[in-house]
Amino acid sequence: MLKIAIQKSGRLSEGSIDLLKKCSLKFRNSHNQLMTPVQNFDAQLLFLRDDDIPQYVQDGVADVGIIGENVFLEHQADVEVVKKLGFSKCRVCLAIPKNEQYTGVEYFRGKNIATSYPNILKTFLATHGLEAGIHNISGSVEIAPSIGLAEAIMDIVSTGSTLLSNGLKEVETVLRSEAILIANKGMGKEDKALLQEILFRIESVLKARDFKYVLLNAPNDKIQDIVEMLPGMKSPTVLPLAESGWSSIHSVMSEGKFWENIDRLKSLGAQGILIVPIEKMVL
Ligand code: ATP
Ligand code: ZN
Repeated sequence: MLKIAIQKSGRLSEGSIDLLKKCSLKFRNSHNQLMTPVQNFDAQLLFLRDDDIPQYVQDGVADVGIIGENVFLEHQADVEVVKKLGFSKCRVCLAIPKNEQYTGVEYFRGKNIATSYPNILKTFLATHGLEAGIHNISGSVEIAPSIGLAEAIMDIVSTGSTLLSNGLKEVETVLRSEAILIANKGMGKEDKALLQEILFRIESVLKARDFKYVLLNAPNDKIQDIVEMLPGMKSPTVLPLAESGWSSIHSVMSEGKFWENIDRLKSLGAQGILIVPIEKMVL
């Protein structure tokens, strides 16, 4: 049985649950439970604090887990990173009082910096050949400079408005993070096979996220031009419409590519364009 650890409640929970459900795993996500069985797969979910997950996966209490890269790098657990998952994206940044003049990373030499990520900060300072004081505090890092605890901070930044309201400005991005899937290094053969099966599903869900199913109507004499613009999985599908002289063209493409091409599609006479989400994509 594959034991999957996910965050109990917080900024990783929704994305983790959503991903597992899209992988067709059926389970009850009641918030006051530590454990819940998966009804249609040989797996069990463990709901934990995200900070505890690396250790639990290293020790084999859980076989796999979903955490932020920031937590993974901070905890330095001996686990395997299996896959980047593309949600819970955030940045870990250095910030200083907004009236200070920033002169580059040298600014931090000899300063006191407050953070909940002392290891990530240590690595950053070492990479730049800097020595600085590190104040490890667990919450409300951004108030540290105003109460005189530190001269700078390193923390997760999502909008920057929290920084601003505490009189700080962001000056360096130390890390870009997203949710990742980690696994125990000594998993048994059966659990490895279960992980491969889930991984296959995860990959098809992630692939589908970037792509859309595009349907449009076009005059027959423009089909060739339009088909050349739409790559499709193999090649686009062209079906005749009831109205003669017109066809419906179906294709799969990345959303970005679609917006790049929309003006040209319209100028070629494409009409009734529909963009439909794809749930899973197996190539
Ligand atoms: P726990 O109670 O489980 O310890 P927490 O308070 O430590 O939770 P959260 O704030 O829920 O953690 O954040 C969990 C993870 O989500 C972070 O480690 C980070 O990877 C990611 N994250 C944090 N802030 C954001 C954000 N604003 N947007 C997207 N992802 C974020
Ligand atoms: Zn946490």
